[in-house]
Amino acid sequence: MNILTFDIEEWFHCDFISDSSTWQNYEVRIHNATDKILQALDNRNLKSTFFVLGWITEKYPEVVKKIHAEGHEIACHSYIHELVHRMNPDSFRKDTEHALKITEDIIGEKIKIYRAPAFSITEQTPWAFEILAELGIEYDCSVLPSSSHDYGGFPSFGECLPSIIEVNGYRIKEFPINTVSLMGKQMIFSGGGFFRLFPYFLIHKWAKESNYVMSYFHPRDFDYEQPMLPQLPLMRKFKSYVGLKNSYPKLIKWVTDFELMSVGEAAKKTDWSKAKIISL
Ligand SMILES: [Zn+2]
Repeated sequence: MNILTFDIEEWFHCDFISDSSTWQNYEVRIHNATDKILQALDNRNLKSTFFVLGWITEKYPEVVKKIHAEGHEIACHSYIHELVHRMNPDSFRKDTEHALKITEDIIGEKIKIYRAPAFSITEQTPWAFEILAELGIEYDCSVLPSSSHDYGGFPSFGECLPSIIEVNGYRIKEFPINTVSLMGKQMIFSGGGFFRLFPYFLIHKWAKESNYVMSYFHPRDFDYEQPMLPQLPLMRKFKSYVGLKNSYPKLIKWVTDFELMSVGEAAKKTDWSKAKIISL
């Protein structure tokens, strides 16, 4: 099962340092960068899941309307792009509720799928699943079943497969990110900076060998003319800008070489009666 998803946010949302009040000073690149993705999918007649940032929906509703009009699945990527483990239950609930309301009003449908910024739902924030379920979210894609990531990591999750998370009587179906074991470390390869960094033949090989792949991309992953944020720490800068020149041809290969589906389609194809239940 190979899932295709996109997180719709601006080029500067890779920064978790600056205050959101500075965002208005930055160049707007979301329209062209999103169009590039839509074009690649249209050429292959592919439908995928788009996790839209509420801040984007509010500022540029036309972006979300266009994605929706082209038949893609709309999901939620929070409102303000804050890491979940920097929030408390109350602020997380408010952020999610706000994002859902704005986006649901634009598309006229209930949103049932969520992904936290930077896979930041961890073992320390089990309350997040409970709140998501209370807000009508049925599927979550926020878990990285490993500890080797900047902002996320859920090492006790176990194997990277669709699973059911149970918290205080609430259940949520989880589609985690997948990893490959490399020199003793669990590495992501099917999205973001990792997809840009690794050579395509390796990504292709690892994906062929996996029976579950969650691919995730951002408009900025294919926008090689984007400015560089000076305030990013060196490692983050490298991860945010490495391989930008060749990433769009890689995406075209990715959508050509694999049979890819949206989260909604994957949910229908999963036999949930056989899925692992993780009680928190
Ligand atoms: Zn994001």
